[in-house]
Amino acid sequence: MKIAILGAGISGLSLARFLVEGGIDPTALHLFEAAPVIGGLCRSKTVDGFTYDVAGGHILFSKDEPAMQWMKDCAGGDDAFVKRDRNTKIRFGDRWVHYPFENGIGDLPKQANFDCIAGYVKAWHERTASGSEAPGDFGSWVHWRFGEGIAKHFMTPYNEKIWKRPLQQITSGWVAGRVPDAPVEDVLRAAVGIRTEGYTHQSIFYYPKAGGFQPITDGAGSTLMGRIRLSTPVTEVRKQGESFLVNGEEFDRVVSTLPLDKLPDVVADMPSDVTAAMRTLEYNGMICILVALDRAQHPNLSWIYLPHDDQGPANRVTYMSNYSPGNAPEGKTSLMAEVTWPMHTPFPGGSMEQDVLAGFKNAGLLEEREVLFTDRSTVSHAYVVFDHDYDRRRNAALGWLEAQGITPLGRFGRYEYDNSDQCVIKSRALAAKLLPELARG
Ligand SMILES: Cc1cc2nc3c(=O)[nH]c(=O)nc-3n(C[C@H](O)[C@H](O)[C@H](O)COP(=O)(O)OP(=O)(O)OC[C@H]3O[C@@H](n4cnc5c(N)ncnc54)[C@H](O)[C@@H]3O)c2cc1C
Repeated sequence: MKIAILGAGISGLSLARFLVEGGIDPTALHLFEAAPVIGGLCRSKTVDGFTYDVAGGHILFSKDEPAMQWMKDCAGGDDAFVKRDRNTKIRFGDRWVHYPFENGIGDLPKQANFDCIAGYVKAWHERTASGSEAPGDFGSWVHWRFGEGIAKHFMTPYNEKIWKRPLQQITSGWVAGRVPDAPVEDVLRAAVGIRTEGYTHQSIFYYPKAGGFQPITDGAGSTLMGRIRLSTPVTEVRKQGESFLVNGEEFDRVVSTLPLDKLPDVVADMPSDVTAAMRTLEYNGMICILVALDRAQHPNLSWIYLPHDDQGPANRVTYMSNYSPGNAPEGKTSLMAEVTWPMHTPFPGGSMEQDVLAGFKNAGLLEEREVLFTDRSTVSHAYVVFDHDYDRRRNAALGWLEAQGITPLGRFGRYEYDNSDQCVIKSRALAAKLLPELARG
């Protein structure tokens, strides 16, 4: 039995580990990885003693305790992690607004506070009096759910920054569980200055003490290194009878974590309607800019949101050196800007760093004299975009692959908004499904 696993991010690595833990002979596994290193979107980078995560600031949290413990154990167990209380804010002019925004409107200037609470109550009344259904597009949903004020002061500008398109072009279907949804009483309390917590899901998180988020995937791969072919892009997958040729070599099974939209370049004999469905799946890339600072201490923040244009192109800023002191040399600190980037658009030149720094300065996050250097990483695929044809295209893509016997897995392998713990959970479920089949040969 020979199993090809395409991609050595957390999905491919954890699947391989669960198969081995379930009794599969490791020599049956062959992981193909295009990059010279494992880890995919969970990788981190260190420059002159400053470490940052290359695909946006990553934290470890999960509702699934065994999955989270498994990830911790990969990186050396509980002692290899720091435990943090999440403290996230929205920067609004020169104010810090509690997150989620609707739980923080009491922190706003009076007029904005009034706009938000008046709009919220009106929307709540209209919604409950009419019993109206949630609108299908995200732009209308924001107004329906939060009202005019919150839409104008936060939700619309912030989400346009991150999604890089009018919000009417994306669905509201992805929202459940991702956009915090506060009870009306809590929003009223917040407006008059009574603190309410809101989104408690990630109120505590973990982060590796050293090396950024990457020790989790490094650890997951450490027992598999003889099985992983680095710098080996998969260029062709071809079905041959009941087996598959991957780059010309025969395998009994193929699991792919490669982005679905790239598979038409790789998988042979794909029908044109499936090719079209896959190629037109939408996503955003990301530019991460580390800002190394000659500053001894940050305020106690985990990450912040920058909704407004005068705050520069970044939508989110991670206080990397607050995640772990191991992320910066002693006596120094760091920030990291996340700038989403539209698919099929070449990444911009060096002026992006200047724009980010100017925005940070406007937002009062730093002084120019504190900046030691910046460093940039880019990822082509960061966020799945849930446009209105997403379900149809994705179902066509997944349905055809599964009919061929190619198993799709992973954030872009299945085009799902999954965090790394969910990748591990899905790999664990797939391993449980495959193990009896593989045991039968
Ligand atoms: C901005 C941002 C913030 C996030 N924050 C968090 C967080 O706080 N916590 C959290 O748990 N998760 C977070 N995530 C999600 C997490 O990064 C992903 O869920 C996870 O890393 C996806 O792993 P994967 O293995 O499915 O995909 P990937 O990591 O993309 O792995 C796919 C692998 O396939 C390889 N590959 C691609 N093409 C080929 C080819 N042709 N041949 C061979 N190999 C190929 C790639 O190099 C890559 O290594 C975040 C993601 C983003 C973008």
